[in-house]
Amino acid sequence: MTTNQTSWVSRRRFLTSGIIVTTGVCLMPRRLFAAEESPVITIRNAAATAKITVTKLRGNVSVLQGSGGNIAVLTGQNGKLLVDAGIPGTRARITEALAGLSNDPVRHLINTHWHFDHTDGNEWLHSIGAEITAHENTRKHLSTTTRVEDWNFTFPPAPAGALPTKVFDNEQTVKLNSATLTLKYYAPAHTDSDISVYFTDADIIHVADTFWNGHYPFIDYSTGGSIDGMIHATEANVSRVNDKTIVIPGHGPIGDKAQLIEFRDMLTAVREKIATLKKQGKSRDEVVAAKPTANYDAKWGGFVINGDFFTRLVYAGV
Ligand SMILES: [Zn+2]
Repeated sequence: MTTNQTSWVSRRRFLTSGIIVTTGVCLMPRRLFAAEESPVITIRNAAATAKITVTKLRGNVSVLQGSGGNIAVLTGQNGKLLVDAGIPGTRARITEALAGLSNDPVRHLINTHWHFDHTDGNEWLHSIGAEITAHENTRKHLSTTTRVEDWNFTFPPAPAGALPTKVFDNEQTVKLNSATLTLKYYAPAHTDSDISVYFTDADIIHVADTFWNGHYPFIDYSTGGSIDGMIHATEANVSRVNDKTIVIPGHGPIGDKAQLIEFRDMLTAVREKIATLKKQGKSRDEVVAAKPTANYDAKWGGFVINGDFFTRLVYAGV
């Protein structure tokens, strides 16, 4: 298979699964199957009809799902705090979901990393009064033209209103709404801008896209991600949580420590298989043809990243 064919296949899976996840029905407009359309455009357009589900987790923390990455919400008298901004096509439904949680205005937004499905909503949330906190590399990538080869997409610099207003480099503590949040930078993992957000009192952690619960993860080598970085981040996640911690993944259902461990074990096993084949001198296409993820695909390959795509992502980093 040529590179174009394989990337088209993975792109088509991206579109198909994105629509199923966001609408629950198969009303796919024909144009969404266009081979040349980037998944970035497709996901942005699909947000216009995406359903938003709201789940109360613990204390005054909830999660909104259905608009790009999972959005955590902390309510209280100091104003709502959101972790990640979703996609503006869902603005009306996000607004409705937020109003259903409390009357507090939105005052704070934290970006877990720079990717569009976590930051596209920055501008409108900032326009209604949210200050934006992120790792300094999130502001760096949003400030400049950034190409993501595996999405076939070049992001122009974000508008000024979408840029983080506060950045940090390693760790930051935020106190509001009677809660203490710890923001912590990972070493480069999914990108070079990933942070976790830990709600210490509620014992809830948003781990950004270092964890896709039940799905092979995307790894963005174009902005510093790597399979080994993903494994290190997952080890860090496992060591930080206990059996009662609620784990919010970047994508997929709300999880726990046992699911983080399963994810870690899958990443490690697939990495070893692919590294062994690569050391034997096999080319990327030969390794893909050897189906090193075959035993894992039924469980992990049903969302955006299928087994072949994940094999290519891992191969690039071993
Ligand atoms: Zn991401």
